[in-house]
Amino acid sequence: MVILDNVASIVEQNGKNVLLIGSNRFMKHYTGRGDRTRWRCCKSFNKCRAIAITYQDRIIKLNNSHNH
Ligand SMILES: [Zn+2]
Repeated sequence: MVILDNVASIVEQNGKNVLLIGSNRFMKHYTGRGDRTRWRCCKSFNKCRAIAITYQDRIIKLNNSHNH
């Protein structure tokens, strides 16, 4: 279990879910089995491989290494 202080889950004006981890934004990718939600960095189109997985509003897995 990863617990961070500077994590916020917000819904933007366009209705999209965004996870803020520090200064990096993660977009919702998909929700898998058992309510686990996978997020990927909003720069994933730029081959950034950072991802986060949340379960019931807690981060259970985090790869917070960015290429930008
Ligand atoms: Zn990134």
